[in-house]
Amino acid sequence: MDVRTDRFRSEKLFIGGEWVDPVDGEIVSSIDPATGGAWATAALGGKADIDRAVDAAQAALRGPWARWSVTERSNLLRRIAQLCTENVEELAACESRDNGMLLKDARASIGNLATWFNYFASLADTGCGRQIPLDPSVHAFTQKVPVGVVGAIVAWNTPLLNTTWKIGPALATGCAIVIKPAEQTPVSTMLLGRILEKAGVPAGVVNIVPGIGRDAGAHLAAHERVNKIAFTGEHRTAQEIMRQAAASMKRLSFECGGKAPHIIFDDARLDQALNAVTASGFALCGQSCALGSRILVHRSVYQTVVDELARRATRIRVGRPDQADTQMGPQAHEAQLKKTLSYMELGQNEGARLAAGGARLEGDLADGYFVKPTVFADVSRDMRIAQEEIFGPVVGVIPFDDEDEAVEIANSTQYGLVAGAWTENLGRAHRMVQRIRAGVVWVNTYRYVRWSLPYGGLGISGLGRENGPDALDAYQETKTAVMNLTSTFPDPYSA
Ligand code: NAD
Repeated sequence: MDVRTDRFRSEKLFIGGEWVDPVDGEIVSSIDPATGGAWATAALGGKADIDRAVDAAQAALRGPWARWSVTERSNLLRRIAQLCTENVEELAACESRDNGMLLKDARASIGNLATWFNYFASLADTGCGRQIPLDPSVHAFTQKVPVGVVGAIVAWNTPLLNTTWKIGPALATGCAIVIKPAEQTPVSTMLLGRILEKAGVPAGVVNIVPGIGRDAGAHLAAHERVNKIAFTGEHRTAQEIMRQAAASMKRLSFECGGKAPHIIFDDARLDQALNAVTASGFALCGQSCALGSRILVHRSVYQTVVDELARRATRIRVGRPDQADTQMGPQAHEAQLKKTLSYMELGQNEGARLAAGGARLEGDLADGYFVKPTVFADVSRDMRIAQEEIFGPVVGVIPFDDEDEAVEIANSTQYGLVAGAWTENLGRAHRMVQRIRAGVVWVNTYRYVRWSLPYGGLGISGLGRENGPDALDAYQETKTAVMNLTSTFPDPYSA
């Protein structure tokens, strides 16, 4: 297995167990966002390549894979976990070159892939139906059957983690999968493909075809022989996929964006809250769906929080992702850089007060896509910087006077992915869980995401949940069986 990242890589498509050139796609350079230079080439597939991959997946479902036992599928997932552990360094280096994630963050995130795969291995046994008691002459039961071919369409910010959340349940349930990684980060998923191949995934069960969203992605979403789309990305893309998937009434699960409220009450442990607010506001250079981007602060501690947050943001060491003392890397690609810079300007035009950052980095880092960690103060809930996901290291601080107002502001966007609240008041902690409209509410912690915890959003933040004990549901259909044990059936028309 060739997993080196220190040489110029050239990646092909992985279809039907073979590494192939695209039929109607193209070969593109993958850009290292820390330098703005190419570090690899990758094949992007077109519609014909998606067709080939769907054919291979359908064929795999008709082949021996359909007869694999649950234990064999679990063992396969455990072998993948083991190989992920053995190749953490290479996977992390590749992810970091692909999207600019700090190497140490990539190591930590990818170091956990094995636990995720092992968790899905243990879930495989649980995807079972039940017996339904009716009357003694009838045996009624349900079975869980694989949904079929899954199309996985994935964003560029944490490709390997978000892809694992889809491959794991697909293999645990006996589905076949066609993965379409984002065009901006096509390389690291191909490396995972080599691990899957080495682990013994049968040909066609997993296919990987990076490609342009509106071309390969849209074709996969509309494909009449794909039974489900598992998507991570922007809500507008999810809405488009819903339309594309409607004709064949595909099963859908969506993990979309957020505009998370991170609330600091006057009874919070301020030092701890500030640690969390700073960490979660600038993690992954702001390119996290769980970013605590709206910081709601009780007015009595508002000025203290603004001053301290600005001080801490200014001190964050921005630099090359592979250097040990770097604390924040670059934006993952040029379009994201431009988007973030435009919101930095917009915030000032909207009347927010720039307390830190607000610009691109110059000097040694000018060639890369680096920006300064940015804090806007005196933000009001209706400003666009408080309503729209920026996906850059930009936070807005909003004051509030009481708990009701904090909840009202927290719930004032169309998003509903995650939220955080800092309080030492037990009743208030529980009230926040009840009252904040979000799929995950963290109290006195933040970005606590684990394999066993369901993750996903309300509103335009998503549809369904990934991870947790019910993670297989979205990859299975329920089939009902009713058996007459008497071998007789009355003739309703006899006299
Ligand atoms: P995006 O929607 O632009 O792209 C995501 C994927 O969809 C890519 O693979 C892209 O090629 C594909 N795509 C684009 N247009 C398509 C179309 N018309 N039909 C089918 N596929 C298409 O999103 P992005 O900019 O890559 O990612 C950032 C977004 O992802 C943010 O909103 C972020 O919050 C979200 N995200 C959410 C989670 C989560 O778990 N909730 C995790 C990571 C990222």
